[in-house]
Amino acid sequence: MKFLLIFAIVAWLAWRWRSSRIRSQMRAKSDSVGAPTTMLCCDRCGLHVPARDTIAGKSGVYCCQEHLRQAEP
Ligand SMILES: [Zn+2]
Repeated sequence: MKFLLIFAIVAWLAWRWRSSRIRSQMRAKSDSVGAPTTMLCCDRCGLHVPARDTIAGKSGVYCCQEHLRQAEP
């Protein structure tokens, strides 16, 4: 009877350890996904590019130097 009690405690501890590990793995996975990237539209060709990759002009944002030059000579 004593053996059964020890087994039950060990099984309960293993279950607790496993569920806390799964929870922390899920938390790490959701952190790595991060915030959604803001997409901006090129004023010259209409291409959607991530905001950090755009080139800002006087009257808008562009996907590349070439389109900035064409739109704002
Ligand atoms: Zn463009």
